[in-house]
Amino acid sequence: MTLAADDSYYLATLPPRAAAVRMVGRHEARVGIVGGGYAGLATAMGLVERGMRDVALVEAGRIGHGASGRNGGFVFGGYSLDCADLLVQLGPALARSTYALTRAAVALIRERIRRHGIECDAVEGGALLANWFGDDRILQRQQRLMAEYFGVHWQSVDRAGLAAHVRTRRYSAALLEPDAFHFHPLKYAAGLAGAIAQAGARVHEDSPVVSVARDGCGWSVRTAEGELRCEHLVVAGGGYLRTLVPALERAMLPIATYVMATEPLGERVREFIPGAAAIYDTRFAFDYYRVLPDTRILWGGRIAVAQRTPAAIAEFLRRDMLRVYPGLADVRITHAWGGLMSYARHKMPQVGRLTSGPATGAWHAQSFGGHGVAPTTVAGEALAAAIAEDRPLPEGLVRYGLPRTWGAAGLAAAQATYWWAQARDAWRERCSPPAA
Ligand SMILES: Cc1cc2nc3c(=O)[nH]c(=O)nc-3n(C[C@H](O)[C@H](O)[C@H](O)COP(=O)(O)OP(=O)(O)OC[C@H]3O[C@@H](n4cnc5c(N)ncnc54)[C@H](O)[C@@H]3O)c2cc1C
Repeated sequence: MTLAADDSYYLATLPPRAAAVRMVGRHEARVGIVGGGYAGLATAMGLVERGMRDVALVEAGRIGHGASGRNGGFVFGGYSLDCADLLVQLGPALARSTYALTRAAVALIRERIRRHGIECDAVEGGALLANWFGDDRILQRQQRLMAEYFGVHWQSVDRAGLAAHVRTRRYSAALLEPDAFHFHPLKYAAGLAGAIAQAGARVHEDSPVVSVARDGCGWSVRTAEGELRCEHLVVAGGGYLRTLVPALERAMLPIATYVMATEPLGERVREFIPGAAAIYDTRFAFDYYRVLPDTRILWGGRIAVAQRTPAAIAEFLRRDMLRVYPGLADVRITHAWGGLMSYARHKMPQVGRLTSGPATGAWHAQSFGGHGVAPTTVAGEALAAAIAEDRPLPEGLVRYGLPRTWGAAGLAAAQATYWWAQARDAWRERCSPPAA
């Protein structure tokens, strides 16, 4: 298996960008944002849209260097915490309004793509939740839950109907979430950054922030070559935040997940995936995949606490793909990569303002887990409204705080939980295989 030297398909297909503007010398801004992933970008965009343009965003690498430029490209409602748990934890009214924020975010992402002319290969095809197991009640329960408590109708797709979306015997049926779409995540991130800069805010890249400290009633944000003084500080470093704000780092675990892309398959791809939906399945350790505009299949899955080499990623994801589509055995894998997600113990985003420790008063947005495209937009809107308009943060987000994750012990527990869930998936599959 030969992999391209540049292992991310997204980087390989991103049009050339303008040279990075590093943060050099002394700067001032009303709002300083650390992190050029979707959380930082959505906050900056939310501020700009509210008329606050005196904003400086500082990113360690290039925009979208983290999870935001590496992900599966699914844009759909919901959070990493599943809706059944959200309902139990928040109660019906608050769960519904908190979920509705992500539906509004999906609409806002669409609107920003349109308004700023962001060319990000968006495909309107919905998201298909395919049932890996033979037990129909799994989908029935999910469909009822979404309709009764969250006010959304996920359409039933029976075994015969599946053929319009996927040609595999691996699934028994599916639910289609019609309002979802998929896109090239790095093109979206880069496009958003371009629109933010065009509106008058500053975007600095290749500028790792080495310290943040209180400075009078504002902040001093230092990089190797420069300093930004700002009134408000937003920290949005995702799973890549290290030794900058211990109170935030203690409260999240950086967890890796992986993606690969096949060679272009031409018309043949439609023999396997004739539909336009992005697909995932009902296991805890699910596959997620979609057809790219150039007829490749982008395939993702697995989580681990360690980063893996592209060759190893391609190897295990290819095995996963062949379990679903054995007919793809001759297909070459051209790209494979991983990315870090930040996870809180409660699996909900951590959006708020620190109330103790040396960084008291800093705003933060992190822990979007593996379901972060829409929730980072929710967070950006919430923080922008709080900073620019003094609005309270949404109650459903405030409820989830910053419980400790206990570092290495937490990572070991997360890995053990994942293996246990994988074993449970395998057991359920044995008890309830998809009907032949
Ligand atoms: C492989 C993969 C597949 C996924 N698939 C999906 C999907 O299909 N749909 C979905 O909804 N979600 C998906 N997710 C989750 C989603 O991508 C994330 O939840 C989301 O992108 C998190 O955004 P963020 O801004 O919090 O973090 P990031 O995108 O990781 O951004 C954080 C940024 O902060 C920067 N940074 C950190 N420290 C510093 C510092 N000291 N100075 C300056 N900058 C710093 C980093 O360089 C990084 O660019 C996936 C994630 C991964 C990894």
